[in-house]
Amino acid sequence: MTPRRQSGRAPVTSPASATVFTTVLTQGPVSRVEVARRTGLSSAAVTKAARPLIEAGYLTELDSEQTGIGRPVSPLEVRADREFFLGIKITDSELIGVVTDLRAQILVTRFHRLPSRKPDAVVSGVAEMAAELLALSPKYTKRTNSLGVTVAGDVDREAGHVRYSPFLHWQDVQLAEPIGEATGLETTVDNDVKAITVAERWFGDGIGAPSFALVTLGTGIGCGLVVNGAVVTGSHGVAGEIGHIPVAGDGPLCHCGATGCVEAIASTDAIVAQARTATGERGLTMAEIVTRARTGDQALQRVFARAGVAIGRGLAAMANLVGPERIIVSGEGLDAYDLFADELRETFATHAFGAAAQCELILRPLPFEEWARGAAAVAVQTLFIS
Ligand SMILES: [Zn+2]
Repeated sequence: MTPRRQSGRAPVTSPASATVFTTVLTQGPVSRVEVARRTGLSSAAVTKAARPLIEAGYLTELDSEQTGIGRPVSPLEVRADREFFLGIKITDSELIGVVTDLRAQILVTRFHRLPSRKPDAVVSGVAEMAAELLALSPKYTKRTNSLGVTVAGDVDREAGHVRYSPFLHWQDVQLAEPIGEATGLETTVDNDVKAITVAERWFGDGIGAPSFALVTLGTGIGCGLVVNGAVVTGSHGVAGEIGHIPVAGDGPLCHCGATGCVEAIASTDAIVAQARTATGERGLTMAEIVTRARTGDQALQRVFARAGVAIGRGLAAMANLVGPERIIVSGEGLDAYDLFADELRETFATHAFGAAAQCELILRPLPFEEWARGAAAVAVQTLFIS
């Protein structure tokens, strides 16, 4: 089965057109001459590719600027409100939904509780949220065609189905088709971390980096990888599984069945389990663990330090293999990054080989609505014929 396609809608129809549109989308306003210089296309090819995008209202020419010599240039800019996009992230307990413009800028955000994790209930919940978001403005209703939906786990984007999602307890669930039917929107389903990687590549810290990695810390440890400008999926859809790089030999048992994985030491669940063992207090929560570590509990500080070392080793292994220009470390686990950032950076510097150590590490928290923004960025991709 394939995702819904409204054939003939996508305004970006050729490789040159995709190159020009992406350049203006991510780096605009920018003149045709500058687009040609940055992409290697001829000026004539840029002008030819831009024309239908201007006619369809996706690109606009700004007032001309006199540059001193020669003809005045009219920079090209994206018309961000030409079309709106919905992004909905499904977590194990709620739906996070946003409306964005063409640049994936969030215009509104909504949170809905998920009454059940059963696929039928989730499809109805997503459809209800989509209807609510669209009803917020007549222009959203009129100018929204695409919905991106993301979940954690193994997702077959082309087929629109979720192969496996541990947090939802799903196995082989077709999602794009029933949601597309319920909402009337062109629906794309993707893995949540890959979706945020798309958003970072076009609109965030990935701009200008041909190779970068985005690592998310939280209940699971995820990774999106861009190498030489392309999101890496690998032959089996499993690439960049940094959470399961073995860094501690016979260390703790991981839920994947192996031992010593980064995730078995540094995921939220692993940190809670180790903190409970260290203190003998079975009821400790993550919030309490963070507070007590910050106020001087050394046993708990060691748990975070160990997590920082495990993550640093995993990141170094990835940097040595792939050589990204930068690694963005984010996710809800970053809320406590003051407790492990030093160990993470030191370990990374020790284990990164040679020039791989020049890789820039960016550590920053990820607000929950950013997950939904990633889903919307996936919807923006439907403007391109794949
Ligand atoms: Zn594992």
